Amino acid sequence: MATLQLKNIVKSFGPTTVLKDVNLAIEDKEFVVFVGPSGCGKTTLLRIVAGLEEATQGSILIDDEDVSYAHPIDRGISMVFQSYALYPHLTVYENIAFPLRVAKRPEAEIKERVNKAASILQLEERLQFKPGQLSGGQRQRVAIGRSIVRNPKVFLFDEPLSNLDAALRGDMRVELSKLHRSLDTTMIYVTHDQVEAMTMADRIVVLNGGVVEQCGTPMDLYLHPRNKFVAGFIGHPKMNFIPAIVSRVEAHMLHVQLKDGGTMSIAIETTGLMAGDNVDVGIRPEHVQLDESGPISMEVDVLERLGASSIAYGKVQSNTTFCASLPGLADIKENSTINLSVKPEDAYVFNSKGEAQKR
Ligand code: ATP
Repeated sequence: MATLQLKNIVKSFGPTTVLKDVNLAIEDKEFVVFVGPSGCGKTTLLRIVAGLEEATQGSILIDDEDVSYAHPIDRGISMVFQSYALYPHLTVYENIAFPLRVAKRPEAEIKERVNKAASILQLEERLQFKPGQLSGGQRQRVAIGRSIVRNPKVFLFDEPLSNLDAALRGDMRVELSKLHRSLDTTMIYVTHDQVEAMTMADRIVVLNGGVVEQCGTPMDLYLHPRNKFVAGFIGHPKMNFIPAIVSRVEAHMLHVQLKDGGTMSIAIETTGLMAGDNVDVGIRPEHVQLDESGPISMEVDVLERLGASSIAYGKVQSNTTFCASLPGLADIKENSTINLSVKPEDAYVFNSKGEAQKR
């Protein structure tokens, strides 16, 4: 088993603080994904867990043991990098066997562990190939194989799929989820791709500017984002935000006035808002319906027909960008105006500080 605790982690590079008091408890066998925009500190946090970087403050506990100053090799952790870091002159077998040879394990044990990893990763047929003879996805699997043979307590992945094309990335997402199930080990995965986070994670940690914005299951973050940042980051296409003014507050319902005259009602549980307050209404593209008398008037600039759905891109209130995901056969055209409505229970409201109002 392997639980992992990060306590009050601060990391500064010279005068710049890139991680600001990060606290996290990761359960045994959990698949946790760190996600966030470029530069938010996710790789630095992963490297601190691995022991490749030292935290300026704070501690790291693995199975309740403080490993903050332990050497990377003694932490029982294995890291898979974005650049697979394979040895081009060695065969797949020898690349996977490499850490066991360094540890001077006996030949019979090496053979058994390499073959087991190759079987899990479906690389048996490729063991005598050199990395140059493999596809990108196969190379990535060899890199993962080299981690598996070490039997680590915790696997760390740093954007392992970012060098693959979109189709292969989709396949590898499924493979990594299966791998997690078959190895039954704690895994931490870093990505800037919210689709990878949504599809693979038991729990997602959203980082922004060195702080944890929110931590929860994928659907928790999708349904109940704590603030505008998380709301805009989780979900694809991204949530739309329309500026509005609160016109009336009722129990469980907030009524707002949009700038171009339309009115909307939004179901909420509690709010500190009052009539006259400026807010942003959050609307997911998949939550709008074509509705001639709907309050949102959208000028459609570009229409993408994807088959199952049609994605309309354009503007509302003359200069606020807006995206609507509509049925595949929706009768709409580019350079036209459409009207849309949203059910009160599907819309979100954010106050002037960007905090979500409870729904
Ligand atoms: P990306 O998705 O682009 O890899 P990230 O979220 O993984 O981004 P980090 O690599 O953790 O971000 O970097 C966080 C910040 O720390 C960045 O602003 C980066 O420039 C800075 N940084 C990282 N390593 C160092 C270093 N060795 N020296 C100085 N600054 C660093």
